[in-house]
Amino acid sequence: MIRMRVCPFCEIIAGRAEASVVYDDDTVVAILDLNPATVGHVLVIPRVHVAGLADADDAVGAAIWRTARRVSVALRASGLRCDGVRLSLADGEAAGQDVFHLHLHVVPRYPGDGVVVTADWKKRSRELLDQDAALIREALT
Ligand SMILES: [Zn+2]
Repeated sequence: MIRMRVCPFCEIIAGRAEASVVYDDDTVVAILDLNPATVGHVLVIPRVHVAGLADADDAVGAAIWRTARRVSVALRASGLRCDGVRLSLADGEAAGQDVFHLHLHVVPRYPGDGVVVTADWKKRSRELLDQDAALIREALT
């Protein structure tokens, strides 16, 4: 497959593009988002280029989670406004993924921060929930 564009996160990881780094180790890099939802909005990015969750192994997933948890705790202690933290990860274009190098958003939250999280929340009967659960259980590998 020909890559039409250079991956901006791989450029940062390779040191060819600048970023404001808050944490890095052998597996992940955590940087500030260029267009933060709130001040202190961090992206946790694996060093390996993987597009989505299906491509990330458990070690990468664990490193992303470990870093996001630590960054979340640090945000609350940092002096930046942070009464709560929202983690979000878009896996696939339909989920709103914009950069196709896996990344987890760590967003400081506080009342009146302007961040909107909404959905057309569904009602689902127990019978249908159980059917849905069975499909997902069968697909788990
Ligand atoms: Zn990349």
